[in-house]
Amino acid sequence: MKFVFLALLFSLNLHLVRSLVECNASGCELKNYLRGPWPDRRPCKITKAFFPTNEAELLDAVAYAVKSKQKIKVVSREAHTMTKFACPNSGSDTGGVVISTASFNSNSSIVVDKSSMTVSTPPGIMLGELIDLLAMQGVTLHQTIAWNGVSPAGMVSTGGHGSSLWGRGGGTYEYLVSMRIVVPASKNEGFAKVVTVAEGSDLFHAARISLGVLGAVSQLTFSVQPMTKRSVTLSVADDASLEEDFLTLAQEHEFAEVSWFSSQKKFVSRIDDKAPLSVPGNGAETTALFLTVQAAAARSSRLSQEAAEAIGNSTFFCSVAKNTVNTVTSTGGGFFNDEQQQHFSGFPVVGYFHKFQARGGCQYTYSNSTNLALPESERLVCGWDFRAYGQFWFHVSIAISISDVGNFIRDVKQLRDLSPERLCLLDTSMTLFIRYLKASQAYLGPKTDAAEIEFMTFRDRRPGEPQTYEDVAEEIEQLLLFKYNGKPHFGKNRPHAFRDIGRKTKNLSKFLSARRKLDPQGWFSSDWSDSVLGIRGSPVTAKDGCALEGLCVCSEARHCAPDKGYFCRPGLVYREARVCSNRS
Ligand SMILES: Cc1cc2nc3c(=O)[nH]c(=O)nc-3n(C[C@H](O)[C@H](O)[C@H](O)COP(=O)(O)OP(=O)(O)OC[C@H]3O[C@@H](n4cnc5c(N)ncnc54)[C@H](O)[C@@H]3O)c2cc1C
Repeated sequence: MKFVFLALLFSLNLHLVRSLVECNASGCELKNYLRGPWPDRRPCKITKAFFPTNEAELLDAVAYAVKSKQKIKVVSREAHTMTKFACPNSGSDTGGVVISTASFNSNSSIVVDKSSMTVSTPPGIMLGELIDLLAMQGVTLHQTIAWNGVSPAGMVSTGGHGSSLWGRGGGTYEYLVSMRIVVPASKNEGFAKVVTVAEGSDLFHAARISLGVLGAVSQLTFSVQPMTKRSVTLSVADDASLEEDFLTLAQEHEFAEVSWFSSQKKFVSRIDDKAPLSVPGNGAETTALFLTVQAAAARSSRLSQEAAEAIGNSTFFCSVAKNTVNTVTSTGGGFFNDEQQQHFSGFPVVGYFHKFQARGGCQYTYSNSTNLALPESERLVCGWDFRAYGQFWFHVSIAISISDVGNFIRDVKQLRDLSPERLCLLDTSMTLFIRYLKASQAYLGPKTDAAEIEFMTFRDRRPGEPQTYEDVAEEIEQLLLFKYNGKPHFGKNRPHAFRDIGRKTKNLSKFLSARRKLDPQGWFSSDWSDSVLGIRGSPVTAKDGCALEGLCVCSEARHCAPDKGYFCRPGLVYREARVCSNRS
């Protein structure tokens, strides 16, 4: 009876809570942050959704699912993971329960303890709100990801990171102190119970990067630090000695990052360190990609990119890349000396610490009723909104050992020197972006100090369609994944990248023992997570066009698009790579 009532209560709640779980008479569907296709282009149809507001309701929701023998996934309000870990089924089947933490976000349950310098937070609060609330109390998180629309639980679950080789490094999960997790339990225990995992234990090392397969996180406690300021300078240099410079930069500056414009033979260093509160400055960082854009503008930007891509207009892409790198120090590249006036007058930009952590903005357009009432083309959206015909990417983010980065840079230079214009497209979005991580004790974390290397490039909206510079993107992806045994970021990347995770993470077998202990029946697991964790199945699917969709590495022409002139060929520099290419 209790469960019938619960189901009724939570389904009523569905109409009250805005999130990416959409329900109608025929059932519910979990959308992803793009409001567009999941990586496998299959929808995520589910049976039921719950919106708990506190731990007791979360316990009830998990108990309901376990008792009724349904798969479970917990997701944040905006489900920003780009991979399918947030879906309880594989897409070829349907069903399962999604528990959204959209309403499990009460500010009043954020507790800062200044004697232990920790904060305890609910799992679903938006990161941007959390860091602002902490700033009001004079403390900050050590590291965050760059985007403020995620939840703290989602951020750590996929191994989210900022950037640093100092102290515990750039991984957000490195600063966790303890977590409370709702896990399945026996009938006698009411089908669900709460466990606490804390620093030093095996379960803690598993739970810090859990992919959501160990249970539902109901509280996270992070270490915090006293508020300081930060002083940031962007500086452009020739890439002749980038093989050494990337490391010196990270050793000398606490929050260093590199944007490598490989086609332009230049890189931008982010020279970013703490500064005392006494240093004057009210500066801040904004990230153009995260700002709101009118739907019509998002569409026209995408259409011009599509037009240039269709004819392989490298002149267009190279001039955009050249202009960006040549003007970054004069325009400020998104930094303002005065946040209020949005004014840039020169580096260094100095401001409060949290103003240089996660940034965002466009996510709020989806809950603004005035905006939602506008005609579709006038609405403000995120630039990646699929329904608005926004950007759509081939996205790669892979951590390789710091000792391999120099060789990786040499390989890319060799590829670039064969025809620099073919790398220009990469430099029009996020370039080859390098951030830093320390070796981790988290079982699904990096084994060694590492550089996370990330890029985004054009992807066709239509399934199985190649892009002109497909071979370049695939060769760099395979250099990172295979030649340098890189570990894919669990919240990004194309599905095939998740092959062989056991070789790339700290200790997969200990992670799997923790999973057997906390969720022996695998209620929080899906076919997809099982395939990634090597339990059964494979993240690779070989079928026509699979390499273009990121479902496989090609081994036959049909995995590319032979009818459009794209065949499976060896890489140009990494000869072991197999890429879809239109080279004659
Ligand atoms: C615009 C943008 C910028 C980004 N920038 C960065 C970046 O700078 N650095 C970086 O490392 N990553 C970045 N990411 C990736 C991001 O960190 C991950 O996708 C993150 O997992 C998203 O968190 P979320 O709160 O939206 O969680 P979701 O997408 O909802 O979930 C992610 C995973 O966490 C699990 N999960 C969520 N909540 C819980 C819970 N309460 N209990 C148990 N499991 C849970 C889910 O089941 C799922 O497996 C970015 C993503 C976007 C869209």
